[in-house]
Amino acid sequence: MFVRRGFRVLWAPLIASVMLAGCGGGERARIPEKKPVAERPRISERELRQCMADLRAADVRYDPLPDRSFDGGCSAIASVKLLDVGVPVANLGAMQCPLARTFAQWAYYAAMPAARKFLGSELVKIETMGSYACRNVNGNAYSSGRLSEHAFANAVDVAAFLLADGRRVTVTSGWNGSSDERAFLRALHQSACKRFQTVLGPDYNRAHYDHLHFDMGRGPYCR
Ligand SMILES: [Zn+2]
Repeated sequence: MFVRRGFRVLWAPLIASVMLAGCGGGERARIPEKKPVAERPRISERELRQCMADLRAADVRYDPLPDRSFDGGCSAIASVKLLDVGVPVANLGAMQCPLARTFAQWAYYAAMPAARKFLGSELVKIETMGSYACRNVNGNAYSSGRLSEHAFANAVDVAAFLLADGRRVTVTSGWNGSSDERAFLRALHQSACKRFQTVLGPDYNRAHYDHLHFDMGRGPYCR
C-alpha cells in the first residue's frame, strides 16, 4: 500500500515526467478522490477482450467479474479474479485485467524461475495480502486523503512464497534474511520494476516491511 509519508518523494519526479510527457499529463495529475468512477481512465471493451484472451493463451485460470462501483469513489472495473497462474495464489480478490495479466507474467517468468535459481526448489504457492481494498494511500478509512490504487483493484500486495521443499520465504524475514533469500526477493523486486508501474518494498518505508506492493497506476516508480 502507499503511505502518505512517502508521497511527496514519490511525486516529485513524476510531476517532472508529466511535464515532459505533455500529452496525457492531465490524466496522471488527477486526484481520484471523490471523482466519479467514469472519469478515471477506462479500459476499452477491445482492450479487455484482448487482455482476457492473453490470460487464456497463457493457460491462466480466472473468473471475469462484473463491473462494480462502491461508496467513496472505489471501484473494480474490467476486473478478474485469478484462480491459477501456474501456481496457486492466496488471498486475491478483484484485479483489473491488465494488472492480473502482468502479475501472471511476473509469477511465471520471474517468481517461478527465481525460486529454482536462488532457492533450488519449485515454487508451489504465492501468498498475497490481497488486491482490491477501498482505502487511502495511508491505509486509513476512505473518508479523507487520496485513494490507493488498491481502491481501483489496480494493486496487489505480495507477502510470501511457499516452496516444494517446505520452505516458506516471507518478505518480513527474507528481505534481510539469508543470502539466498535476499537474492531471491531482490530478483523478484527488480523483475517487478520492469513490469508494473509502481513497485514498493521494505526499502521504501516501514509500512512495507512485510510485503511487496505492485500496481499499474502512476509510474514508473521502483523502490
Ligand atoms: Zn499495496
